[in-house]
Amino acid sequence: MSAMQSVETDRRQNLFHFTRRPQPMVDRADGIYLWDKSGRRYIDGSSGAVNVNVGHGNRNVIDAMKWQLDRVSFAYIFQFENEQAIELARGLADRLPNGLDRIYFVSGGSEAVEACVKLARQWAVATGQDKRWKTIGRMPSYHGITLGTLAVTGDDVLTKTFDPVGRPMPLVPAPFVHRDHDNLSIEQRGVRYANMLEEKILEEGPESVLAFIMEPIGGAATAALVPPDSYFPRIREICDRYGILLIHDEVMTGIGRTGKFLGGDHWACRPDIVALSKGLSSGYAPLGALAATQRIVGPVVEAGGFLHGHTYGGNPVACAAGVAVLGEVDRLGLTENSAAMGEVLRSELETLSGRFPFIADVRGKGLFMGAELYADPVARTPLPQSLNANLRLIDLAFERGLIIYSRRVRGGPVSDNFMVCPPLITTREQIGEIIAVLGDALETLAAELDLPVGR
Ligand code: PMP
Repeated sequence: MSAMQSVETDRRQNLFHFTRRPQPMVDRADGIYLWDKSGRRYIDGSSGAVNVNVGHGNRNVIDAMKWQLDRVSFAYIFQFENEQAIELARGLADRLPNGLDRIYFVSGGSEAVEACVKLARQWAVATGQDKRWKTIGRMPSYHGITLGTLAVTGDDVLTKTFDPVGRPMPLVPAPFVHRDHDNLSIEQRGVRYANMLEEKILEEGPESVLAFIMEPIGGAATAALVPPDSYFPRIREICDRYGILLIHDEVMTGIGRTGKFLGGDHWACRPDIVALSKGLSSGYAPLGALAATQRIVGPVVEAGGFLHGHTYGGNPVACAAGVAVLGEVDRLGLTENSAAMGEVLRSELETLSGRFPFIADVRGKGLFMGAELYADPVARTPLPQSLNANLRLIDLAFERGLIIYSRRVRGGPVSDNFMVCPPLITTREQIGEIIAVLGDALETLAAELDLPVGR
């Protein structure tokens, strides 16, 4: 048996991570590229899982982590303070809007979202509002894969099996305003979707509703769905009217990804609690955080403290990565680069949609761009789901050395989408490279599925 065969046998016997197809063995990575063991190069057009914001192989992040490893690799957060966690909390508080300056560290996105929901619930109890326990989410949406986060996630397939164990929460439709056929303007539709939250609150009984959770710009489930400007103030108004907390899941959209520090900063949003992860450590260590205002944290601390805590919460090496990542985001002007290169990417994707008319609804902000594949883009008729067109597209791109991001959405409007979200260090020339390979993959997809091609 060859060395590769034996690795494959071990993998099959011992690992059971779900994969759709055999995957190459990764060897090394640098900047926006990864290489496999055979020497093939891949452009990381998805930043991994939309998390490698500062790019691969960043020397300053690696050195900061090495320094910390040499000093102290682990000190339990319930036994010692560590400077890295304190510095990272301060760095976040300085960059976050509207008094979101109380920070709590965890190890990932699902953990961050669960901690947000738990903090909200403890705030309700600490302020004599015990009856409030429901967190309303959106359909479709993605907030994580643990029992607590699946309860607020809108995905029929992911949640169905676990509904009896978790406790599914009420959901309102995500604002797919561009799909609606009515006489309303986009902004009027934004208000209409926000009003669905109020209707749901009244249906559930306002006294029982604790919080509303949303991704300010949709991620995995909605491929960079950007709500109309009118949506955000109306959501805040409704939350305020009924005394409901607003939780923003910025796990994917945070840390410069969309061309602002937070996705919600495009609309000067005022969430009460925010979940962060992914770009916060840019993949150099498992790390997540919640940020909340003193209005929420104060009563919880006074009532005895947050009933929470993971072994690895505030891990000094993970926090050292986070401190260095924030430093690199500033030093390299990555938020600004994301905004500027995002516009280049948008215009290139729009050109592709002219060449391949089955692509429409190019959307997003910064290097957080998505688009849809349609049978008829004018009527917005979906492609037959049996074609698995978006999954086929990501495979064709992968074979050509380009990684893009896509998930099959199950629940809510059918969406054959894909996302292009390269690291925030991406240059104009590299966007050209991405688009050339994507164009080639789309050409093959069109031929295989007999889809129309323009000039
Ligand atoms: N929230 C959002 C918006 C996400 O995109 C993700 C991950 N895709 C999560 C939560 C869960 O994060 P993790 O995979 O680190 O648990």
